[in-house]
Amino acid sequence: MLITSLPSKYPYQFNGINLHPLNFGQLLEYLNESPNSDLDKFVLDYSICRQCDANVDKLLLTDFFFIVFMEKLLTINKKLEFNGSTSCPECNEKLHYKLSTSDIKFNPLDEELMKGLTVKLASEYHKVQMPTVSEFFNMIKYYRAYHRNLDFKLLKIYSLFVNAQKYPGKYEDMITKATYEEITLLLTLEELYLQPVKSINIKCSKCGGTVAVSPFSLAADMFHLLLEENRLTEDQILFK
Ligand SMILES: [Zn+2]
Repeated sequence: MLITSLPSKYPYQFNGINLHPLNFGQLLEYLNESPNSDLDKFVLDYSICRQCDANVDKLLLTDFFFIVFMEKLLTINKKLEFNGSTSCPECNEKLHYKLSTSDIKFNPLDEELMKGLTVKLASEYHKVQMPTVSEFFNMIKYYRAYHRNLDFKLLKIYSLFVNAQKYPGKYEDMITKATYEEITLLLTLEELYLQPVKSINIKCSKCGGTVAVSPFSLAADMFHLLLEENRLTEDQILFK
């Protein structure tokens, strides 16, 4: 399946990213490796999507997060939809809903953001820009060589700073030591650049309250959802 609509709307030199659903073998491999940290999950997701289409290396990071989500959705169900459930935070009622790709709305990335920003941190100005997947990987390689448990959120934030690859020690120090409004700034940057889709509001049928669900969190339990969505048909097992 060729995914042509990507959150950034960046004019790539290719038409889209071609994805295939994970087959049984890959799915078991995926579950057996069951990475613990977000960084390990990212690396595994990358290797799966990279097998589908080498152009993922050229994607902007935010588009890549979206592609990972689509890969999971495609694995669960070829119609790219699935049934989810959540609980109402007000009255605890169990809410069931159906989600399809048309319900997924991108967070707009305006032109100014795409061109890059300048932000003030630790009394200096720094250029911020969205990295590509391969730039992000260079960063992971560097940090993996020196650190064992690097926080994925921190790594995503480092990758937004254009000079962080050149002066990793300086940027790591500056970002980890941020306080007060500097923390707000860093989290805002992450939100602006690296959250490609909007949460979906689900209305509670009992009390009328709403619950915001991130579509990304829904694909976490792929195997379970796959079995739910793909029930056997009568002609699949024939008894004597
Ligand atoms: Zn409710």
